[in-house]
Amino acid sequence: MKKRLICISCPVGCELTVEVENGKVISVSGNRCPRGEAYAREEAVEPRRVLATSVKVLGGELPLVSVKTDRPIPKNLIPQIMELVKGLSVNAPVELGQVILENLLDTGAKLVATRAVPRLPQEPLNPGVRPAAGPP
Ligand code: SF4
Repeated sequence: MKKRLICISCPVGCELTVEVENGKVISVSGNRCPRGEAYAREEAVEPRRVLATSVKVLGGELPLVSVKTDRPIPKNLIPQIMELVKGLSVNAPVELGQVILENLLDTGAKLVATRAVPRLPQEPLNPGVRPAAGPP
């Protein structure tokens, strides 16, 4: 079976043809460099992507923090991982690069914050209201 792919490893965008038989890559053509062959071999058999999404923040200046996986993960696991991420929340403050979740679905990948979210400033006590005095 032949598959046609566009190489996304650089802006040239070579049109690749990959011949696959019984789940194995037999040949790759159309690539101008070895990176294209490596991309085609992976993409034809087990495509991977870096997942970028967001996670709910509790008590932060923003309601969400942007996150991404620290490495490409199998594309077919992305729907399951998105379900997992939907149920996640993290307490503010969130630091840039903070690991939100380790070893996503046993892929070895971490989910990492790509920005910082400070904690919401604490509400000052209303100076007109004083706690009731206790017994003398
Ligand atoms: S095969 Fe090489 S030159 Fe062509 S798009 Fe891929 S990385 Fe770029």
